[in-house]
Amino acid sequence: MRPDSRGYFGEFGGRFVPEVLVGALEELELAMNEAFADPAFWEEYEAILRDFVGRPSPLYAAQRYLAGISAAPLLLKREDLNHTGAHKINNTVGQGLLAQRMGKRRIIAETGAGQHGVATATVGAKLGMTVDVFMGASDVERQALNVYIMNLLGARVHPVTGGTQTLKDATNEAFRQWAAHVEDTFYVIGSVVGAHPYPYMVREFQKVIGVEARSQCLARYGRLPSDVIACVGGGSNAMGIFAGFVDDPGVRLWGVEAAGEGLEGAHTAASLGAGSVGVLHGSRSYLLQDADGQVSETHSISAGLDYPGVGPEHAYLKQTGRATYVAVTDAQALEAFFALAALEGIVPALESAHAIAFARELALERDSDDLIVVNLSGRGDKDIDQVRSAYPSRSAE
Ligand SMILES: *Cc1c(COP(=O)(O)O)cnc(C)c1O
Repeated sequence: MRPDSRGYFGEFGGRFVPEVLVGALEELELAMNEAFADPAFWEEYEAILRDFVGRPSPLYAAQRYLAGISAAPLLLKREDLNHTGAHKINNTVGQGLLAQRMGKRRIIAETGAGQHGVATATVGAKLGMTVDVFMGASDVERQALNVYIMNLLGARVHPVTGGTQTLKDATNEAFRQWAAHVEDTFYVIGSVVGAHPYPYMVREFQKVIGVEARSQCLARYGRLPSDVIACVGGGSNAMGIFAGFVDDPGVRLWGVEAAGEGLEGAHTAASLGAGSVGVLHGSRSYLLQDADGQVSETHSISAGLDYPGVGPEHAYLKQTGRATYVAVTDAQALEAFFALAALEGIVPALESAHAIAFARELALERDSDDLIVVNLSGRGDKDIDQVRSAYPSRSAE
């Protein structure tokens, strides 16, 4: 669905920003509407996705992961095979082209683990634009490899020292920078979050995942999936694949959040599962906050899911019941990470491992008539050091 004219999905979304950004968001919305109505814009986007990103990504039938557990076929949408290793590039290509069309010479981005920063820097290099990335100072240290890659790609990385020195603070700083330089600067947001029109725009750029998966399913199996599963951080890979199936009432949609150490304690990142309604980074949605409305510190084993908010369209899908949101702990995700590697020859991103873990639970209630599609949002190369230092001697039994 499209948000209403004020940018709301039901009661979620909107545009909660300081006055200086209202004009910039209106300018962006106008340019976006024009671009979306121009077939030449989509032709260029599709050509880059084909030749630079490597789309369409395969829909792969995993043979062994569910063996002995369920007869339900398991299909993996292989976003891990995209250039730069995840779905994020679909969105940065789209926003980069829009920035170019608007005549902006500089693009800025926030990044937590560095994945969105790398995807933005990649597109900046390709399109010949100046890129400034804002990153929490503590993340700059933890993610030194991605910082180096962004520099290789010609981007400048700016450590943000306020607050907890992580993604939430980097996002605040990117908004401040945008407000100060709206004339020549385009802000590339990395998920379906932020003020209107970002949640809608980013979903439209990620929708290619769901559109491809739907036609791949029909071509190969002659039927639609029974279930579509994706992990939810900000929610862009999930909205992207859900968008292909949301109008098919028989297809159940499952969003998997990071429970961290569990939904009950303070060490979680499950905004829909353990949060409440409030405003964060320009829109109304669910977020993890304390009784005074202070944004909570979050925890997840996977940096890409470690965010206190979630896109407003997910809040809407939860409220209407069209999608169901569940949560998977660090330990369950890690188990799925090892299992997919050993049984399928695919090392998933820790984020995607959350979706893989839930697929195994769901499969117990499904059989051969069903079809389970999991969005494998990214590859695990970036997580190897982290897992290896925790489990130095892990090997196949
Ligand atoms: C960033 C990231 C995510 C989380 O972001 P969403 O916007 O929720 O998709 C999930 N998986 C991978 C591989 C990522 O890099």
